[in-house]
Amino acid sequence: MPINYNAKPVDINQRKVINGVDADTMQLYPMKHTFAWETYLVGNANHWLPTEISMQKDIEQWKSSSVLSDDERRAFETILGFFTTADSIAANNLVLAVYKHITSPECRMYLLRQAYEEAIHTHAYQYIVESLGMDQSKIFNMYREVKAIYDKDELVLSLNEGIFDPNFKTGTFENDQKFLENICVFSLVMEGIFFYSSFAVMFSFQRMNKMPGSAEQIQYIMRDESQHLNFGVNMINAIKEEQPELWTKEFQDRIVALVKKGVELEYTYATTVFPKGIFGINAQGFRQYVEHIADRRLESVGLPKQYNKDNPFPWMSEAIDLSKEKNFFETRVTEYKVGGQLDW
Ligand code: FE
Repeated sequence: MPINYNAKPVDINQRKVINGVDADTMQLYPMKHTFAWETYLVGNANHWLPTEISMQKDIEQWKSSSVLSDDERRAFETILGFFTTADSIAANNLVLAVYKHITSPECRMYLLRQAYEEAIHTHAYQYIVESLGMDQSKIFNMYREVKAIYDKDELVLSLNEGIFDPNFKTGTFENDQKFLENICVFSLVMEGIFFYSSFAVMFSFQRMNKMPGSAEQIQYIMRDESQHLNFGVNMINAIKEEQPELWTKEFQDRIVALVKKGVELEYTYATTVFPKGIFGINAQGFRQYVEHIADRRLESVGLPKQYNKDNPFPWMSEAIDLSKEKNFFETRVTEYKVGGQLDW
């Protein structure tokens, strides 16, 4: 493209999440979607790496025959089996499908950060599997063998198909709705619901003082994921504002139905993966928790609540509100080298 020396600065009112101007360069200012920049800064402030967390205790407990029950071992493995697929699906969705259609430079900045975080999460699972000497192919292939995992992945992958098509372009009513549907399912269901039974079980391990290194990794992952979800919700709400015609009654009903389907799949996953319940959480507890968070996801984008359930696991909010000051620096084993400290 030839340089146009007479081009005017970008008009902030033409900035849009999709179908905006200036998708070809990262012209960050004037900045419109400040939520994206703020989330980008939070992501950087939360930076962590799996190898900074000691796995010594976990290795001892995993090798010992007296710490974990068979059910707990199976639950631990299956959770990793799901997580390994979830974060790689997330990364692919962002990099191969979502990113190229986003025309807001600041949203793209956060998506780059988010994609890296998804890689860090997959690294964390690899690190746990390797540290504990687990059967790698068993864990990483589990989605092909455990139907409840496959079904969750399948819901997201089947809805992705349209926007993964190399010929897919935003700019028509139908395609823009298709794109918005993808981010709704990706954010509200995949990142907002499908991780959460597993998170709850991992924090129960932590509360019992079992597998503390793995649980700590998952805690950092959950902190990142809650930012991914925030960002996704903000992006959905920004698109709604910029293109209100997309948010039809029929579209809203479709998203509510997909969230409800996600709730069923997550409940089925929880009851097949933890058939006898685990750490005192039974099927009823999982259902109530999943329904409670589903309502919060719906409300976050202005859709009506469906379940009206109280949070049966109030300790989960504490785990989510993990602050870096609380324990991050006590447990990390390395510090980042910054600025003048770098040894070239
Ligand atoms: Fe994520």
